[in-house]
Amino acid sequence: MAKQGVVIVGGGIVGVSAAYWLSKNRIPVTLLDQYEVPNRWSASGDHLQLFGLTHGRDAFYSEMSAKALAFWRVLNKESGAEVFCAHGMLDLAEAEHGYEEDSLRVLKDMRVPAQRLEKKHIAKLYPMINTRAVRWGLFHKDGGIIWAFRAVQALASLAQKQGAKVRPHVRITEIVKDKNGIRCLRDAAGHSWEGERFIFAGGCWTPKLLAQWRLPVRVTRQAQIYVRPLLNSGRYRPQHFPVFSVKSAGFYGFPLHIHGFLKFVDDRRGPLEKKPDPAAAKDAGTVFEKKCRKFLGRFIPELERFTESESSIGYYVSGKDGDFVVDRLPGAPNSFVACGFSGKGFGLGPVIGGALADLAQDRKPEINLHRFRISRFKR
Ligand SMILES: Cc1cc2nc3c(=O)[nH]c(=O)nc-3n(C[C@H](O)[C@H](O)[C@H](O)COP(=O)(O)OP(=O)(O)OC[C@H]3O[C@@H](n4cnc5c(N)ncnc54)[C@H](O)[C@@H]3O)c2cc1C
Repeated sequence: MAKQGVVIVGGGIVGVSAAYWLSKNRIPVTLLDQYEVPNRWSASGDHLQLFGLTHGRDAFYSEMSAKALAFWRVLNKESGAEVFCAHGMLDLAEAEHGYEEDSLRVLKDMRVPAQRLEKKHIAKLYPMINTRAVRWGLFHKDGGIIWAFRAVQALASLAQKQGAKVRPHVRITEIVKDKNGIRCLRDAAGHSWEGERFIFAGGCWTPKLLAQWRLPVRVTRQAQIYVRPLLNSGRYRPQHFPVFSVKSAGFYGFPLHIHGFLKFVDDRRGPLEKKPDPAAAKDAGTVFEKKCRKFLGRFIPELERFTESESSIGYYVSGKDGDFVVDRLPGAPNSFVACGFSGKGFGLGPVIGGALADLAQDRKPEINLHRFRISRFKR
């Protein structure tokens, strides 16, 4: 590794995690972001994100989540801040056999503590849930909330303490290549950023930033809403009400947090967006609000008539087959890209960042990146 080290574009969870791991190994690293690190326009810049180990039958993701869980616990200690709170996660099943049953089987195989909750247990523990709408529930205590903004802040600050340089307000507009790969990056102010290796973790801006590679990814508009309960707000506190998901209905939700609001996210794939611009995104509109009321009316009826709410649009990036893209850039062997994390990239960000740090040091990543290769789309 030459003295110039690694240049990372993107100070979301993936970029700061890569900076953290590289600087921990004393590799010179410079992290660039067009805004502050963290910033509210990045996907990583929300107050909080869900973390869970349930991924249906996809044990590979559950195993990655288990690795991430260990890291989030370490980060709580290392940063001295409460970044991750494991109050548990509840998956509500509308049918007997399906995603939740597969998830339970995988967790059992991995020896992750998880329990099946029958309707009567759900009614007793979470009286706000309409048990006529659900068949059973899967609870695992290791799921919970990650305070996202705070987590990015903590990782950036630890990386800086370890020697990383963080440079906000640097927007990369040009990539200069030669026959060996990428030679340098140019920013909007005309400065050049040289490095031995380059990592691109630009979230929804990645397809534009790496336009010459025509990455096989799609960007979709995704809506979420913050809702204040009209009554009984105490019982939605994280100690009493976990993060939860109804996979079949396409929504997941959070307990009460900042300013007494609950958050609900529509996880179903939204409309395609050719020119994502988080800084210009408006609220999610009345049609989405109606969908939320319908979802709540079915699963948590007392929340259906909310009067105070705030919705917003974010962007999922996903590989065209729905999976992640983490790989060396074709024709640029000194450079790597990571994007396409749809709605599960925050919790897994530190593991992806670790894999990128390994790649940039010519080390074999701890996770097998084979399924995330760009070349899979050519087959
Ligand atoms: C509505 C919504 C809800 C979600 N909920 C969850 C959840 O509950 N749990 C979960 O695990 N995941 C969730 N996700 C997914 C998760 O937020 C993302 O997968 C993850 O944050 C992506 O991180 P990132 O670092 O790749 O990108 P980002 O966080 O978007 O960061 C990219 C950074 O790159 C910078 N950048 C881009 N281009 C340039 C450039 N040219 N020059 C300089 N800087 C540049 C940007 O400014 C930005 O700061 C959700 C996503 C959305 C949209």
